[in-house]
Amino acid sequence: MKNITQIYINGQFVTPQGSETMELINPSTNAVIGHVTLGNERDTQDAVAAARAAFKTFSKTSKEERIAYLQKLHDAVNVRLDDMIAAMVQEYGASLQFATMSCQYAAKSFLQAADVLRGFEFQKDIGRSRVSLEPLGVAALITPWNASSSFICNKLATALAAGCTVVIKPSEMSAMQTQVISECLHEAGLPPGVFNIVNGRGDVVGAELTRHPDVAKISFTGSTLVGKSIARGAADTLKRVTLELGGKSPNVILDDADLQKAIPLAVMACYMNNGQACIAGSRLIVPEEQLDEVKRLVKIAVGQTRVGDPADASTTIGPMVSKKQYERVQHYIRVGIEQGAELLVGGEGHPQGLEAGNFVKPTVFVNVTRDMRIAREEIFGPVLSIMTYKTEAEAIEIANDTDYGLQAYVSSADYDRASRVASQIVAGRVLINCLDHDPLAPFGGFKQSGIGREYGVYGLEEYVEPKAFIGSRGA
Ligand code: NAD
Repeated sequence: MKNITQIYINGQFVTPQGSETMELINPSTNAVIGHVTLGNERDTQDAVAAARAAFKTFSKTSKEERIAYLQKLHDAVNVRLDDMIAAMVQEYGASLQFATMSCQYAAKSFLQAADVLRGFEFQKDIGRSRVSLEPLGVAALITPWNASSSFICNKLATALAAGCTVVIKPSEMSAMQTQVISECLHEAGLPPGVFNIVNGRGDVVGAELTRHPDVAKISFTGSTLVGKSIARGAADTLKRVTLELGGKSPNVILDDADLQKAIPLAVMACYMNNGQACIAGSRLIVPEEQLDEVKRLVKIAVGQTRVGDPADASTTIGPMVSKKQYERVQHYIRVGIEQGAELLVGGEGHPQGLEAGNFVKPTVFVNVTRDMRIAREEIFGPVLSIMTYKTEAEAIEIANDTDYGLQAYVSSADYDRASRVASQIVAGRVLINCLDHDPLAPFGGFKQSGIGREYGVYGLEEYVEPKAFIGSRGA
């Protein structure tokens, strides 16, 4: 049993003033594996005060100093990768394969931010003026449960690269992962107050950060609903906001695509991270005349997935993070059936032998129409909706018929053709014939998938504000 009773403020692990506790539950068994004591508004205010005090000196550090800090953070995280992976598998239910990739990625994000910082110009000459890009101030980083450490590390690395100081509010459901990452970050030996970490509920700690006048910036990753409430709350103090929200990503298979490659990739695009991914390619859009072949290949690809114990190296799909999330996915499967979609694979209930945990059957629907809820709403589980099109123009229209615009996928034998289609899809990223991630390319959403971008230069720019100096010595 793991009891997490401290938060991290001003360079120290301290006992929170908040006294509410929450159970931590292993989603593979639903056994209670620990408790976390949650911080409250006063803890949040202390964390903001520490970050504000540290900002005075940290904002004046040189690029070289900050690059050195980022290197130290990388080294401190990298050395505890095994502990981070174990916590992510146990507490969240990520498959060992996914957790390994995700935690390695978390460590690397400090080096990537250092690289971006190296090439970033904080001073520019524009017109007759000197323009200085100034760090915004205290940044609040609010993160979800579905890849906790990598969201924390990427946001933290970028904010620090810009010269901001930070208060992190991780998901309250990720406290064991937060504990490991907090210990790593502490080991890096940064000046006190540069980063602070407060476990707590969204409507308590998150809400206090949203309204606090000394927080200049919020970088939030999470649901569209909460993102909107943060944007509304942040308006009172005109905080800058970066919102990375939900998605219902289209995956367009053009009629010349090699289905033998494109379909297994499409199933992976939807089921990655147990289907709990904002970028999940959950709408598969295929040529009508190829539907029978698509169905055959989808069945094979789904048959090759392995649902089960996430600690087993061969598992590809672990449990849903919570009973609530399990119920949400079940609900959508029922809605799909009720609204007339045809169940091709999977369906309601647990896979046989996995009744104790929050495991769901990898599910695929065909004959899905655009108005159905399973085609429009983010399910956040391994449920794929297949739709058909007659013409390329219709495929693009279906792809864009969504409130979201985070990521999209296109497969074709002809890269130029795929690029032409990609250019017409409204999404922050379009992946052509691949499932890659480019940490230097901007990431973020059009429409209701968010505001702003993360990663690379565009990510760094979200933490600075331009200031113009006009006039010359001789004037
Ligand atoms: P969530 O929105 O419920 O919670 C995210 C974070 O916000 C948590 O730390 C939570 O405590 C906090 N929060 C909740 N209410 C708050 C409030 N009123 N004020 C301030 N903070 C508050 O999301 P979740 O359930 O943890 O994660 C799943 C969602 O995240 C999905 O919708 C998914 O699409 C989205 N997501 C988006 C991205 C992206 O990069 N676009 C990545 C991963 C997940």
